[in-house]
Amino acid sequence: MRILICGAGAIGAATAYYAAAAGAEVVVVEREGVACAASGKSGGFLARDWCEGSALAPLARRSFDLHGELAASGLGEWDYRRLDTWGVVASARRDMARHRSAEGPAWLSPGAAAHGRLGDTASTAQVHPAKFTRGLMAAAERHGVELRRGTVEGLSRSPDDSALTGAVVDGAVLEADAVVVAMGPWSILACGWLPLPAVGGLKGHSLVFEWTPEPAEALFVECEVANGEVHAPEVFPRPDGTTYVCGLPGEGDLPIDPGDVGVEAAAEGRLREMVATFAPEMAAAPARAFQACYRPVTRDGLPLLGRVAGIEGAYVATGHNVWGILNAPASGEAMADLVLEGAATSVDLAPFQPGRLPPAAPPVVRASDAARRPDAGPGS
Ligand SMILES: Cc1cc2nc3c(=O)[nH]c(=O)nc-3n(C[C@H](O)[C@H](O)[C@H](O)COP(=O)(O)OP(=O)(O)OC[C@H]3O[C@@H](n4cnc5c(N)ncnc54)[C@H](O)[C@@H]3O)c2cc1C
Repeated sequence: MRILICGAGAIGAATAYYAAAAGAEVVVVEREGVACAASGKSGGFLARDWCEGSALAPLARRSFDLHGELAASGLGEWDYRRLDTWGVVASARRDMARHRSAEGPAWLSPGAAAHGRLGDTASTAQVHPAKFTRGLMAAAERHGVELRRGTVEGLSRSPDDSALTGAVVDGAVLEADAVVVAMGPWSILACGWLPLPAVGGLKGHSLVFEWTPEPAEALFVECEVANGEVHAPEVFPRPDGTTYVCGLPGEGDLPIDPGDVGVEAAAEGRLREMVATFAPEMAAAPARAFQACYRPVTRDGLPLLGRVAGIEGAYVATGHNVWGILNAPASGEAMADLVLEGAATSVDLAPFQPGRLPPAAPPVVRASDAARRPDAGPGS
């Protein structure tokens, strides 16, 4: 069976890896570059039990375990490690000393207090998301996966419209028995090609500081800055001597070209101001990266993982919101099973069926985007 996967983020790469490892012929089509979007610019934080009580819980537990297995398998190196995780309050306006617990990171400034442990090395971990995604893609290529640079512009169908025969890539049909749409927030384009629920994109900024605390501990901070605004930065020290901080949403519509995602200049200063409330030395350190990306979201907060009803060979794997790096391995494993075997056995995909939500209208593409892309195909 020949499977065409649209998009080489963490979800596309994991699906490609598991499908190829099971013996399928796989082609991945990526418009910009492997891990060029959220899968390269996210925090890479993993938690085993933070989705308990939601339909995501089994997917998260299976994924957390698979992350450990993948890291130990020798497939590649992507800075996987377990670490402790703390809840912290910080303020530029108040003394937080009374909130401080006896334990907690010693490197916090007096303006901050760790109020509790949110996870330990049994339940929380991290990867470098870009290295993870590229590492899985490289492992998939060693299993024979073909990675193609190209833009998926539409899908091709059988004469009676009942089945997919492939995808339109840069104006030509690339034939396949099954097509998996895994274009993150850009999966919205597929609403013009298939009866799919809406997928949105929520923008977030992040800074990677050339500074790292010792010992390395992840923080989820509730932080009051000088003007009284309260933010929720997330802080992930990395084994490469840097620390990743996100927590500032961005504005602006998703550009049709992933290469056009840009930062908003003021965001860097605002992120540094937040960091200064709990780690002034880090706030003053140079930035290795200042970046923005969009996480893919659905109307009910759950991913879309499954078959598109009524069209043979059509599948979707997206909408992983804030847990796409965590949930990539079990999503990829289950999607590979579903496409190759007809059903996923490792996790129950029923809660993630795309048919649970109404199909969306085809997206409206701005004239400026269309002008930049004269090659735009059906539905884009
Ligand atoms: C600031 C921030 C921090 C985050 N932190 C964490 C975290 O700590 N832990 C966690 O688990 N999750 C985190 N997430 C969420 C996670 O990053 C995402 O859920 C995940 O990366 C989505 O992966 P994806 O493969 O679905 O999409 P993407 O990474 O967006 O990949 C989609 C790919 O499709 C390609 N594409 C787009 N259009 C086309 C086309 N027409 N043809 C071909 N290819 C196309 C794109 O170029 C891109 O490479 C974070 C998200 C954000 C925004």
